[in-house]
Amino acid sequence: MANIVIVGAGIGGVPCAYDLRKQLDSSHQITLIGSSGRFEFTPSNPWMAVGWREAPDTSVELRKPLEKHGIRWIQTPASRIDAEKRQVGFADGSDIPYDYLVITTGPKLAFEEVPGLGPSGFSQSICTHAHSLQAWERYQVFLQNPGPIVIGAAPGASCFGPAYEFAMILDADLRKRKLRDRVPMTYVTPEPYIGHMGLGGVGDSKGLMEAELRQRHIKWISNAKITRVEDGNLHVEEQGEAAQPAKNHVLPFAYSMILPAFLGVDAVAAVPGLCNPRGFVLIDQFQRSPKYPEIYSAGVCVAIPPVEVTQVPTGAPKTGYMIESMTAAICENIKSAIAGHPPTAKATWNAICLADFGDIGIAFVALPQIPPRNVTWAKQGKWVHLAKIAFEKYFLHKVRSGTTTPVYETYVMKALGIERLKLKDKPKSAGDTQ
Ligand SMILES: Cc1cc2nc3c(=O)[nH]c(=O)nc-3n(C[C@H](O)[C@H](O)[C@H](O)COP(=O)(O)OP(=O)(O)OC[C@H]3O[C@@H](n4cnc5c(N)ncnc54)[C@H](O)[C@@H]3O)c2cc1C
Repeated sequence: MANIVIVGAGIGGVPCAYDLRKQLDSSHQITLIGSSGRFEFTPSNPWMAVGWREAPDTSVELRKPLEKHGIRWIQTPASRIDAEKRQVGFADGSDIPYDYLVITTGPKLAFEEVPGLGPSGFSQSICTHAHSLQAWERYQVFLQNPGPIVIGAAPGASCFGPAYEFAMILDADLRKRKLRDRVPMTYVTPEPYIGHMGLGGVGDSKGLMEAELRQRHIKWISNAKITRVEDGNLHVEEQGEAAQPAKNHVLPFAYSMILPAFLGVDAVAAVPGLCNPRGFVLIDQFQRSPKYPEIYSAGVCVAIPPVEVTQVPTGAPKTGYMIESMTAAICENIKSAIAGHPPTAKATWNAICLADFGDIGIAFVALPQIPPRNVTWAKQGKWVHLAKIAFEKYFLHKVRSGTTTPVYETYVMKALGIERLKLKDKPKSAGDTQ
């Protein structure tokens, strides 16, 4: 019997638990450790922050569906991992053993890297449901007395899609309220150009996103290093060409949402030899720790090098579909390891992002994520807005029901020419489709 423990019950961890349960017989124990009782669907957060969704609509109570599927559920954050003894520990001093550990703990939000940044400072965040609810409360106050809005991302950020989404969603919401004419808006980003997305651009993402910002009267500053946030003022250094002095801006705001850079969570970052200096789990091509081969990891918590060096640091995004590809590879590889075979499954690491702009949206597809790519395109349309709503519904259904491959992955992604796993080390001929 193998004892498999998964830490982190988010977009990566919950499907991983269901997938493992489906693939392994009941003699093997699967335990999922989460820090709260509910699964939160993070991609809905921008909608929550403008009151288009409420928390119960976009979250799922986890105990019942997990236990129904024979998955042991522990609703207490892991506070340490002893990789030598193969144990996960909790704040009350107790420990549980594992044969295989899967780490899917997502990001720690590095607000402290910019003075005044974040919900305990002067800007809002949409990274968690709690933050989005706070952002929504603050937005309702703002609506009583509108003024300038600044949206963007801090130096070192890797997740730009939600920042663009939120700027456009706010624009759409303010237009509906007939308040847009009272709100100058600015988008501030460390990306070297608009539409870079931490991916070096995807298709004509630069042209599309610039046009969209212009169309919506949203000004922008790229190559921007936010240096501090004060009550009502955002301080920005805009980096010029090499050897050119930086241009300083002070942007007044009545409402601001800035995404922070990410780090790895403390319990994981503290394991000797497991992580890079920012606390992200180092993995091989089979999603395993090179130092501790019985530890696997997927999602935002894994170390991925930036796609390219940028003047102001940016990271590579890890999006939902790519995360599922990683967990699918982990399930295959754990199954092989239990059977005494070497791992063979590799994630495709394709970046697919449906960025919703409240009425229309833009879809980005980069196969693979790191250039040079086989497929790269960005397309705009109302269908993206609808596809994003479908993504939300299917994912929440998947969490409630324990389905491992719902229609969205099976049909929609195939229609886009995307698969979750690479063919196992098989040389591909030009006639193969993947
Ligand atoms: C606002 C926002 C919108 C996004 N929108 C999209 C989108 O539309 N499409 C897309 O593809 N991607 C999107 N992403 C990117 C990505 O898909 C999400 O960040 C996704 O939630 C990452 O999944 P994850 O499993 O790595 O982490 P998470 O979903 O964050 O899950 C990690 C879980 O681990 C828990 N945890 C942390 N530490 C511990 C501990 N010590 N013990 C136990 N549990 C712990 C956390 O509480 C959390 O529940 C978005 C990201 C953000 C921030």
